[in-house]
Amino acid sequence: MQEELEALEQLQNLDLSTLSIRTELKEIPENIEETQKNVAYVGDLLQKERSRLEESEKWCVDRERDISLQTDMLSKSKAKLQASRNEKESKAAQREIDTLRKTIQEREKEILDVMEAINQYRLRIEEHTKEFRELEETLSATEESGKVRMAEIESELNSTKARRAELAGRVPDKTLRLYERIYKRLGKALVEVVDGSCSGCNMGIQPQVYNEIQKGEKIFTCSFCHRILIYKPVENADTDE
Ligand SMILES: [Zn+2]
Repeated sequence: MQEELEALEQLQNLDLSTLSIRTELKEIPENIEETQKNVAYVGDLLQKERSRLEESEKWCVDRERDISLQTDMLSKSKAKLQASRNEKESKAAQREIDTLRKTIQEREKEILDVMEAINQYRLRIEEHTKEFRELEETLSATEESGKVRMAEIESELNSTKARRAELAGRVPDKTLRLYERIYKRLGKALVEVVDGSCSGCNMGIQPQVYNEIQKGEKIFTCSFCHRILIYKPVENADTDE
């Protein structure tokens, strides 16, 4: 019985480590997908920033064209002022000049503001371009190492299969089925008795049952959590002498 329980314990260790590499296997593509999403997100952001920059640059060109038009008009109004023959004409020309100057000033101020924003856009684009490239590098590294690790895990899982079958062959079917039933429900199905308690649920074990478990002649399960109980003698090697 003791040997069977030892085989079962090894089998459980194998199942637990298999579970953890299976989880790892599942997480690798998830991790890659997450990085892909980040790359796409920053790429999208960059695209938006670039088109906003383009729009602003185009806006400035339009505004500058507008200013040069107004400047032409201003020269014409100045000529009109020079050629004015009476006060009425000169006042009208002066009014035109004032309005045009004001408009030009306003346009120039607007352009300055937008130019400042354009500089900010450029800085941000530069930053995000750098971030984008780094993310792309991270992505290809993650994909590369992920592929390698996945292949490793696959072969590990394959060799585990043979080892598990070998261990399962050393455990009676009834015990194996019991183990598998509990494992499915609770994860760890085989637990040690520590200080007279089940280490799965921490409930105390009746003294007579505890004695029986120590003998290791029969399979005992915890009456609270139903896990299979094993007893391991305490090793005193360190405390002796
Ligand atoms: Zn228990």
